[in-house]
Amino acid sequence: MKIHEYQAKEILRKYGVAVPAGEMATTLEEADTAAKQLFSQGNAAVVVKAQIHAGGRGKGGGVKVAKSLEDAAKYAKDILGMQLVTHQTGPAGQKVQRLLIEEGSAIDREMYLGAVVDRASSKIVFMASQQGGMDIEEVAAKDPDAIFKEYIEPAEGLSPFQARKLAFKLGLTGPQINQAVGVMTGLYKAFTETDCSLMEINPLITTRDGKVLALDCKMDFDGNALFRHKDLKELRDMAEEDPLEVEASKDALNYIKLDGTIACMVNGAGLAMATMDIISYAGGSPANFLDVGGGANQQQIEAAFAILLSDKNVKAIFINIFGGILRVDVLATAVVAAAKKLNVTLPIILRLEGTNVEEGRKIIAESGLKCQIGTTMKEAADLAVAAAKG
Ligand code: GDP
Ligand code: MN
Repeated sequence: MKIHEYQAKEILRKYGVAVPAGEMATTLEEADTAAKQLFSQGNAAVVVKAQIHAGGRGKGGGVKVAKSLEDAAKYAKDILGMQLVTHQTGPAGQKVQRLLIEEGSAIDREMYLGAVVDRASSKIVFMASQQGGMDIEEVAAKDPDAIFKEYIEPAEGLSPFQARKLAFKLGLTGPQINQAVGVMTGLYKAFTETDCSLMEINPLITTRDGKVLALDCKMDFDGNALFRHKDLKELRDMAEEDPLEVEASKDALNYIKLDGTIACMVNGAGLAMATMDIISYAGGSPANFLDVGGGANQQQIEAAFAILLSDKNVKAIFINIFGGILRVDVLATAVVAAAKKLNVTLPIILRLEGTNVEEGRKIIAESGLKCQIGTTMKEAADLAVAAAKG
């Protein structure tokens, strides 16, 4: 689960990581009040920052430094409500519904500091680079030696010597080293205590008066650990998520939208992956990943259909079920009822195996629906691809 920059900075603050002072605003009035306050405190500049769940906002025009209250108001007006396009949003962009109004910082250097769970080593790895501010992916691709890494032993945690080593590699000197060590210590504590999967400070800056600050922050939490973080769950902003995925999560369906034409309804994540593979193998492209789970009921099947149908790219529906806990006849009954209720006119192709498969096939055959049944996964995939091509 992703959160906004202003929320991530709030968490960093709690862990003693220095971040600029600022306020979140959802209206121009709130933005103006926040900017007034920051200027009245003697700040020479105020930064207006679009809050969306994507990076690259600066390049897309979503981060502006204002030297006056008038400029701040103008930038807030420009940015709030804009359709912000960055390399991470895709061409459609994301509508800006919140702003962060922040005290301006006099930047000396922009660096990069990130932490992520590294699957290969099963450890948290800290990454640091002097080339911060810009696309770190580009640095990693073109100049991987410019990224320094420290793998953290889970039982020991981040050692002070590891933090100091990274601080030296960042080219920091004097009192900045201890400040950076403080940032990393706080970051590590926040990372482990909130069950983060990724945390990125880009840029971590030094200011002209010698301070080390987290100027931007991105956090991503492990969804499987959210049950033990009620407070974090509340930070979820559904307006930033794909509406179909939000809809699916309400019915406990594991749905990820893709850009193909064959909608898939499958029970079990492994079978769902295999289904997408075999569709590709048969020359088609899946419109989604959808795992309805082992014990799907009629309500979930209906919800799943509704979600699949609201994707306008879909030309055919491929239902691939191995009946175990979910009996095939139960699923077939639910599919027929849902398809009739929702008036499904798209071709439906099924591959059914498992408990009560004969009853299931009979229910489908007698339903009067425009269904085809493939006897093997490959045969069903071929039928689905042919149907999708019209
Ligand atoms: P991103 O583009 O989505 O990663 O947004 P960032 O928060 O990283 O901001 C992008 C860039 O805006 C930074 O790399 C800085 O160069 C610039 N920026 C952000 N805040 C300030 C500020 O307080 N002062 C100055 N001078 N520049 C800033
Ligand atoms: Mn950034």
